[in-house]
Amino acid sequence: MIETKNLKISFGSLNVLKDISTTIKQGEKVVIIGPSGSGKSTILRMIAGLLPSGKNAKIHLDNKDITKLPPNKRDIGMVFQSPCLFEHLKIIDNATFALDCKGISKKQRQEIGKDWLKRFGLDSMENRLPHTLSGGEAQRVSLVRTLIAEPKVVLFDEPFSALDAPLRKKLTADLSTWQKELGFTAILVTHDIEEAKKLGDKIIVMKAGKMIWEGKPEDFVEELL
Ligand code: ADP
Ligand code: MG
Repeated sequence: MIETKNLKISFGSLNVLKDISTTIKQGEKVVIIGPSGSGKSTILRMIAGLLPSGKNAKIHLDNKDITKLPPNKRDIGMVFQSPCLFEHLKIIDNATFALDCKGISKKQRQEIGKDWLKRFGLDSMENRLPHTLSGGEAQRVSLVRTLIAEPKVVLFDEPFSALDAPLRKKLTADLSTWQKELGFTAILVTHDIEEAKKLGDKIIVMKAGKMIWEGKPEDFVEELL
């Protein structure tokens, strides 16, 4: 379970987030939707530990206070809008980067990595470099790179918005399957209403730095945006 209390931040005179408090259950898929600039990415960055979360803020993961922990100690993964792969590393080394950080041997990394790449429809790509991949393939590699560390929570910041509609649809469906298989809690930001309804067990609507609505996909209406 992930619980946030009073997340807050201002940049100059702009209050970008105001008292964000919510609870997300273990294994739940939560979708955050809202206009551009409403603070969606900022929430994810705070949960990931990439931004400070404010003076009275608290972030708990499974009853552990992670508010002050650095990103790599939180057991939280993040997938960004663009894949941001290491251009000089082969796909297999990109995919298994987290295992390298954990001190797992090269031989074992190769084995585990090949298995994951296959599972994500990337078999026989292990020795290629990132610039030889299509946008969709590169985003799959960045998914593997995040998921291979088996984080409890995965944050997705508009992960498929740069891809064309059919591919976006396919990856959105795949994401549901992978989430079920791996059991992580997912918090996904999107501006696509269909994607939100399809993926979310719960939808959160953001407007001007505030959570203005939280509920089930079937109760969500477009007028909330
Ligand atoms: P969203 O993801 O919903 O489009 P963001 O969370 O990226 O919105 O940003 C919310 C607001 O905060 C925007 O107005 C943005 O310009 C501002 N903002 C975000 N990060 C910074 C920063 N580091 N410095 C100044 N303003 C920022
Ligand atoms: Mg954003």
